[in-house]
Amino acid sequence: MTEDTSAPQSPIWHPFTQHATLPEMVKIERGKGAYLYKPDGARIIDGISSWWVITHGHCHPYIQSAVQAQAEKLDQVIFAGHTHEPAERVAEELIAITPKGLDYVFFSDSGSTCVEVALKMALGFWHHQGSKRQRILVLENSYHGDTIGTMSVGQRGVFNRPYDPLLFTVESLPFPAAGAGQDTLDALETACRESAEGVAGLIVEPLVLGAGGMLMYSTDVLREMKRICEKYDVLFIADEVMTGWGRTGTRFACEQAGVVPDIACYSKGITGGSLPLAVTLCHRKIFDAHYSTDRAKTFFHSSSYTANPVACAAAVANLELWHREPVQENIDRIAAYHGKKLEAFRDHPRFENVRQTGTIAAVDVKVTDEGYLAGVGPTLYAYFQDRGFLLRPLGNTVYILPPYCVSEADLDEIYDAIADSINHI
Ligand code: PLP
Repeated sequence: MTEDTSAPQSPIWHPFTQHATLPEMVKIERGKGAYLYKPDGARIIDGISSWWVITHGHCHPYIQSAVQAQAEKLDQVIFAGHTHEPAERVAEELIAITPKGLDYVFFSDSGSTCVEVALKMALGFWHHQGSKRQRILVLENSYHGDTIGTMSVGQRGVFNRPYDPLLFTVESLPFPAAGAGQDTLDALETACRESAEGVAGLIVEPLVLGAGGMLMYSTDVLREMKRICEKYDVLFIADEVMTGWGRTGTRFACEQAGVVPDIACYSKGITGGSLPLAVTLCHRKIFDAHYSTDRAKTFFHSSSYTANPVACAAAVANLELWHREPVQENIDRIAAYHGKKLEAFRDHPRFENVRQTGTIAAVDVKVTDEGYLAGVGPTLYAYFQDRGFLLRPLGNTVYILPPYCVSEADLDEIYDAIADSINHI
């Protein structure tokens, strides 16, 4: 450490936090709806759903009471060789609401782990059939998590440079920016056709690349990518960890393109954002490739808390809330309001790349050093924090990804703060 030799007050090492430049953590005491509250009662509008997880609002009473009831009944049980009602209900409901053709549900506990599971399923699928296919294709600027496997399929750069020797080789396709979708599709087709060792799968964040800078692409490109994968028998893996649960305007982004992935990853909003849980869904053929009296073909993946009953109860409550409350109406309301509010940014001299997919809205502040380490990032973050907003720009990209209970008045405040922020940088 070079900047500051004074020891931090707390022994906690926070995620994606440079303690040398951000010595003070914001203490949060409670949350309700779209708001977080500090110990002194100060209110913060949660403009990013607390890292894209909260969907129905903080501390939703329906989820809270389901969690409480389950915690009193069964807290945890080994999931190898055992099952329980909340997990069965989550699986049954997921099969019913996800694109038809996803037949099996594997539980895990975070976005990264459900993507790891997806990658292992894909490689296991080919391996157990005696195929040598191992190559994974990815989209430029992707983010799929921070474990070694998920970093391997993510964009290489500042996030993972020190760990480069541990990362496996993948082939990166150009990001399908507006007007450049054909380049991506051509690169995909070439990679599928010409890869010597054979392509095992393509993994994509459908419609929106989140951590890569809220980069958006069309349903047409998504659909075409799936078509090319089908043509070459390449597994199509949809990482809906961020895009799932309504963020892009439909419950799952793939729905909009009519795409049925071979493997799909969901986490974050699966419990309404209340507890950690994740699932990887797959087509029957992938389960079948592991189904054998030969025990060496077992799917060797687990974590201690696989399908934790309390987290599953929260997921059941979340799934029920999609029936009980006007969730889709709220999503449509937010999407329409973004559309209206973003107009003011379109011809603005200091903003560019105004974009929206469903409930996700983003603008870039014009700078000369764009990217995640853009100098304006920390300044903007501090400005929003001082004004009572949780907005965490990705470099010079300011985005809004709110919980679905956010009001128009809250959004007005957020948009006003974003417009004003450029006067303070
Ligand atoms: N995949 C995508 C698309 C994500 O956006 C994220 C996290 O933001 C992950 C995977 C990793 O999820 P987690 O942070 O829960 O491990």
